[in-house]
Amino acid sequence: MSDARFSSKAYQVLVVGAGPCGCAAAFTLTRAGVDVGLLDRAPFPRPKLCGGLLTAKTVQALEHIFQCDVGELAQADVLEARSRTYRILHRKHVLCSGQTRDPFLLARREPLDALLLERAVNAGVSLLQGRVLQCTPARGEVATAEGEVLRAEYLIGADGANSRLRRALKHDKQQWHANLADTVEIRPPRKILPEPLASQDHPSLHLGYTKDGYGWVFPNREHMVLGMCGLRSQTSLIDGFRAMLRSLRLDPDRHAPFRGHPLPYGNWLAAPCRDRLLLAGDAAGFVEPTLGEGIFYALYTGHHAALSVLDQLHGRGKADEQYKRRLERDVLPELRGSLRLRRTLRTAVSLLGYAPMRPLFSVGGHRLGDMVHGRRSYQLLRPKIWQWN
Ligand SMILES: Cc1cc2nc3c(=O)[nH]c(=O)nc-3n(C[C@H](O)[C@H](O)[C@H](O)COP(=O)(O)OP(=O)(O)OC[C@H]3O[C@@H](n4cnc5c(N)ncnc54)[C@H](O)[C@@H]3O)c2cc1C
Repeated sequence: MSDARFSSKAYQVLVVGAGPCGCAAAFTLTRAGVDVGLLDRAPFPRPKLCGGLLTAKTVQALEHIFQCDVGELAQADVLEARSRTYRILHRKHVLCSGQTRDPFLLARREPLDALLLERAVNAGVSLLQGRVLQCTPARGEVATAEGEVLRAEYLIGADGANSRLRRALKHDKQQWHANLADTVEIRPPRKILPEPLASQDHPSLHLGYTKDGYGWVFPNREHMVLGMCGLRSQTSLIDGFRAMLRSLRLDPDRHAPFRGHPLPYGNWLAAPCRDRLLLAGDAAGFVEPTLGEGIFYALYTGHHAALSVLDQLHGRGKADEQYKRRLERDVLPELRGSLRLRRTLRTAVSLLGYAPMRPLFSVGGHRLGDMVHGRRSYQLLRPKIWQWN
């Protein structure tokens, strides 16, 4: 990496990946007066496959980190729909039709991510374009496909599920792949869909098509977002998705080929640090492993990786230790609780079928809704307070 063909630039902190995680990290650091480079391979706005469902804790994270409220999201044309109502179905049978205390917001990722990036750039972040090929954590260096070497005192890897920077970390690759999900998604216009799908105005979850995963239908103004995720090691996702489309009276062939992307689904790294490198967001596997919620965890862990680097810059401890402490305090207990829940539900379904889910959802619906929105913990539904320091 000291090849003379490479030109070289240096920053106090270099963040790789300008999705929600990288923008949260870069914004937090820049607001604290740090010189930050933010590198992404794509020009923005860039496409991102995502259901775009925002829970109350995600809205809270946007407010805390970026001081960006729902009014501003609406003004930037990020929001497509809003609903307190949700449904859970097993094949064609409704298991639960409920309301949550907080609304679910349905967002478009392209304008959301572009808005967060604009915030970071306006705060003073240096935006760089380039695709990282290689990272040397001990030297705080990355080399790009464009022939540059970028250096920093600290690196934050926020380069998504297929992270290049993760390769520089010692971690259990078998465990990573065993708990990786595949996803597929389509966005047909409402006007070509049959009723009642064409006029659905609430999110619905669809069970029974794939083991260790689920399908979703999320309303947008002009489109519907239909998708499915499932553990890569266990299922044929495409077959399950085609079956779900057929039961919604859609012809799968008309909507193929489906777009797909990997989703961390229980394969988080408990200690995502090495030398000068900290990983956050999807790159470190921080996605809640029952519903696959990742935007909140990307924002939250990006912000906390940045706070941990700030701690070291200000002599308040080592960045990696501070980061691991924060993850253990707030994030890892939630991910463990969620993974336990998913495994318990899977065992219960394989022994008893889906019928017992009806009373479970009707008795526990409100509390489960609070858990998804972040008011309660995935650890025994205890009240949850997210910490922003
Ligand atoms: C089909 C699908 C549906 C989903 N639905 C939801 C949902 O409804 N709600 C929810 O909360 N979560 C959802 N998620 C999860 C959510 O999309 C992710 O958890 C979230 O985007 C993670 O953010 P991030 O910033 O960590 O990574 P990303 O958003 O993936 O951003 C990573 C960035 O890194 C850049 N990058 C990658 N490699 C390099 C490189 N080598 N060099 C430079 N730059 C690089 C990319 O261009 C990208 O901009 C869904 C995911 C999928 C796949």
